[in-house]
Amino acid sequence: MTARVIDGKAFAARVRAQVAAHVARLRDEHGLVPGLAVVLVGEDPASQVYVRNKGTQTTEAGMQSFEHRLPAQTSEADLLALIAALNADPAVHGILVQLPLPKHLDSDLAINAIDPAKDVDGFHISNVGLLGTGQKAMVPCTPLGCLMLLRDHHGSLAGLNAVVVGRSNIVGKPMAQLLLGDSCTVTIAHSRTKDLGAVCRGADILVAAVGRAEMITGDMVRPGATVIDVGINRVERNGKLRLVGDVDYASAAAVAGAITPVPGGVGPMTIACLLANTLTACCRAKGLPEPDGLTA
Ligand code: NDP
Repeated sequence: MTARVIDGKAFAARVRAQVAAHVARLRDEHGLVPGLAVVLVGEDPASQVYVRNKGTQTTEAGMQSFEHRLPAQTSEADLLALIAALNADPAVHGILVQLPLPKHLDSDLAINAIDPAKDVDGFHISNVGLLGTGQKAMVPCTPLGCLMLLRDHHGSLAGLNAVVVGRSNIVGKPMAQLLLGDSCTVTIAHSRTKDLGAVCRGADILVAAVGRAEMITGDMVRPGATVIDVGINRVERNGKLRLVGDVDYASAAAVAGAITPVPGGVGPMTIACLLANTLTACCRAKGLPEPDGLTA
């Protein structure tokens, strides 16, 4: 079997177009422009690239982008004061504090200082609790993107066995919650899981969010399963730097029914879902109908 390739790049472009169309309607019918504020502390090169991409795509979707670049030595008090000002700013509907923060800053404190209604990353403890209890939450962008791809491929996910490898607060745990919310039978695997291969082979849906290049191999995949590869790893191959996932694509694609590639799978969905969350936050703040299909 050769797996169907789930094209996250094309899907993300459709999500961005849907967001842009909805934003245009908000502007025309309500004079409303959703705004996303991104806070970057320090000069981490990868974070600089992410923040630039977020800003560009926010503007392209017709929304307002507010970038706040603070020096690496910024104090906790100054960071919290900026977050408080953004919470109070009516032009800002979404706030994202780019992680990781420099070591002297407490990221939990910063995230939990964001107004939960503006927490478009879905990391605030209130949103974690709302998601965990099946209530309307702001949902973390990467797992939301994975869920959209899975719903698009399968239709209903009810009754499917899902295995999520990884239990981080950013990807693994919210992914598991979302799959449970869609009535999958969910297993969460991690570094202490015994016989990971056997656990993975029980999956109709296998989500890899491990951070280890190509560690999920074809022999760990049930024939016909859907494989979602969240991993982004930079490895050197033949003297060149390449991006690879947490899944060994060649061997897994030979067994799976469908698979996301790296790059071009889950990655592009993350910013698309950030835009979707910003739009959703704006609609909720104003009591307006939310866009279809862009929330959990
Ligand atoms: P973390 O490092 O926070 O979590 C990794 C998880 O994998 C942990 O729960 C860990 O288990 C588990 N793990 C590590 N080694 C093994 C192993 N040998 N067997 C089984 N489980 C293992 O990573 P993130 O969740 O933040 O990210 C995961 C991957 O997703 C990374 O490659 C990251 O770059 C990528 N990513 C991609 C995004 C995108 O936009 N596409 C966004 C966010 C992340 P334990 O808890 O026991 O230590």
